[in-house]
Amino acid sequence: MGRLFGTNGVRGVVNRDFTVEMAQGLAASAGSILGKEMAVGRDARISSPMVRDAVVSGLLSVGCDVHDMGALPTPTLQYMVKSLGLDGGVMVTASHNPPQFNGIKVMAADGVEISRATEDRIEELYFKGGPEAAPWNMVGHVRDVDVVETYIEAVVSQVDRKLVSSRGLKVALDTGNGVSCLVTPRVASRLGAGVYTVNAELDGSFPGRGSEPTPENLGALRDLIEATGADLGVGLDGDGDRSIIMDEKGEAVWGDKSLSLIADWYLGRHPGETVVTSISTSKGLEDVVNRRGGRVHWVRVGSVDVSRAMVENGYLLGGEENGGIMYGPHHPVRDGAMVMALLLQILAERRRPLSELIAEQPIYSKAKDKVECPNELKEEVLRKLPGLVEGLDVDTMDGVKLTNSDGSWVLIRPSGTEPVCRLYAEARDKATVMAIIDEYKDRLGRLIAGLQ
Ligand code: MG
Repeated sequence: MGRLFGTNGVRGVVNRDFTVEMAQGLAASAGSILGKEMAVGRDARISSPMVRDAVVSGLLSVGCDVHDMGALPTPTLQYMVKSLGLDGGVMVTASHNPPQFNGIKVMAADGVEISRATEDRIEELYFKGGPEAAPWNMVGHVRDVDVVETYIEAVVSQVDRKLVSSRGLKVALDTGNGVSCLVTPRVASRLGAGVYTVNAELDGSFPGRGSEPTPENLGALRDLIEATGADLGVGLDGDGDRSIIMDEKGEAVWGDKSLSLIADWYLGRHPGETVVTSISTSKGLEDVVNRRGGRVHWVRVGSVDVSRAMVENGYLLGGEENGGIMYGPHHPVRDGAMVMALLLQILAERRRPLSELIAEQPIYSKAKDKVECPNELKEEVLRKLPGLVEGLDVDTMDGVKLTNSDGSWVLIRPSGTEPVCRLYAEARDKATVMAIIDEYKDRLGRLIAGLQ
């Protein structure tokens, strides 16, 4: 991970950690490395027009032409970079972070977030003082482009519009005052669904329920489902890439399970395919994929790693346990509107309530916890962890993941942003998973204390 680029782009509190000068400088460096034709978009944060102008200015100053796509979800910009054949794009957003944050996500010509190697190149150039500015008569041009309609049709074309329309399905949406309200309700109504919304006004202070959907803050969506009899509920994050699903009873469905459901449907049509996911995802996904004759390709935690593994290997489905799902036949990035369209397709085909389809997924219990760990000790902790256990299957792709013979597992990863080590565990039942968490929290705590 670089000095500025985190798990997904550069983010910080506006005018403190993330300034217009940084936005301009990083955009100039990105533009000079990625190419001449660049897309720019923004979310609905209060500071986003300011940051957008800085990004546009940085790109123009190095001779890039800017296709300004205005306010739109990140996956809309990503799809359009690829379909218009541009050289790259910059999205002004801090995703699900609180309103005082902003940042940028940078896309390559394939419409996927740039690789870690390209992030490093951009940072290096930025810290060396940036690229040379273009002569006065070579600065770029900017044009406004309206792309939302093209994108909506592209999403809708991935499912059977006639079939979905014929079912009279109802969808409840909580767009969290973010930019997905410009797209997701229109995709649902284009598919003939009845659409009901809450927190659907653009508001950069995110007054509704904050910009990150969690099972705890989706009470308004639950009420909306109950009041309207909706078949499906979707809560989206601030830039529309991540989503939490709710069934017709108002039960939140974690990302693992919506991914398993979509994987089961997809592999039913394309047997033997490979699904990409990060090592924190439930083993339930692997059970479903194996049952369909497919294979899981595990990668490090982070959506960029999932997307890049899909692109490099030509795999067409990927996802993360936090509710980001990548549907490659459309575009291999997380996309909340695409996930909603796929779920409508699945409901239309199977003709059964979502709660029943979810109940058929493998049942595992998951738990998460953390232990304080000074940043300077993290590497030493990682080196010593495998030595604490014997006879276990140890995976060191990202942190340390230990798998027991009964399939239960624990993953210990140092946080990239906080002085803590995180623990994730999964087992067949709640009692076992809590026992695993308690045991490893204790072992980890003693290991860290012994190093201080
Ligand atoms: Mg997001």
